[in-house]
Amino acid sequence: MSATPVRRILAVVPLLALLTLSACTANPTLHARRITTAQPTPSAPLPRPSTSPSATAEPAAGSLEWYLSQVPTFPEAPPPQPMQLPATGAAPFWHRLPTDQKVAFITIDDGGLARPPGLIDFIWEARIPVTMFLNSPAAAEHTDYFRQIEAVGGIVENHTITHNSLAGRSYDYQKQEICGAADKLEGLFGKRPTLFRPPFGEHDSTTLKAAHDCGAKAVFHWTETVHEGKVRYQTPEKVVQPGDILLMHFRPALMDDLLAALKAIHRAGLTPALLTEYVR
Ligand SMILES: [Zn+2]
Repeated sequence: MSATPVRRILAVVPLLALLTLSACTANPTLHARRITTAQPTPSAPLPRPSTSPSATAEPAAGSLEWYLSQVPTFPEAPPPQPMQLPATGAAPFWHRLPTDQKVAFITIDDGGLARPPGLIDFIWEARIPVTMFLNSPAAAEHTDYFRQIEAVGGIVENHTITHNSLAGRSYDYQKQEICGAADKLEGLFGKRPTLFRPPFGEHDSTTLKAAHDCGAKAVFHWTETVHEGKVRYQTPEKVVQPGDILLMHFRPALMDDLLAALKAIHRAGLTPALLTEYVR
């Protein structure tokens, strides 16, 4: 019984609950699955197979039901307190978001290598807030896939065109990489990215100026990486801290990475949230 979705908590924010009802009337079991964090309600929910909340058998390992059964129950995310952004002509660079709020952030990078088909349903049914830092050619080649993730609440942000390291390169080169990708992503998704992650995290002061000039409000590194279901901490605490940013990639084991990230965030007493709720 412990694996059935009914143990999950209902959305407790009244507005969110209302939105939930309007978005999910086709499948009442979905109500019990969402992570109660502030994120946009999908405008075009996808039809999905019915699940059986009364089933007592454990779902098969690797099935969507199995992944859903492993998702912890999170505390409600606090109302986001957006960051004060400097007016310096350069974007701030953050390893973690400077907040004490009990949230952490899941980010998924690149987009060209692998795009697990089950990911969209997993994100939708578990209501996982994800920020995607995409290379624009991958976004252009697989636009439908990323649009579907966007439709279930994911956010598309900027990770350059070529994924070359920017550190030490000229302003013009860096601006072309950042603005070029921003222009393309804006054309594909109808919204200009406002967040930027440099490839490999490598950057210099020119990067922060170019990112600012291309419309980025903040530039992000990360505090944990997740690969093949294992969380690797970049900080001595070995526990996810408020404001931490977990990095994973569009790779074959992304569903396992996502699950590992959720469990690590839950162990720390935090709730996953969207970066764009905090950097506006
Ligand atoms: Zn990358």
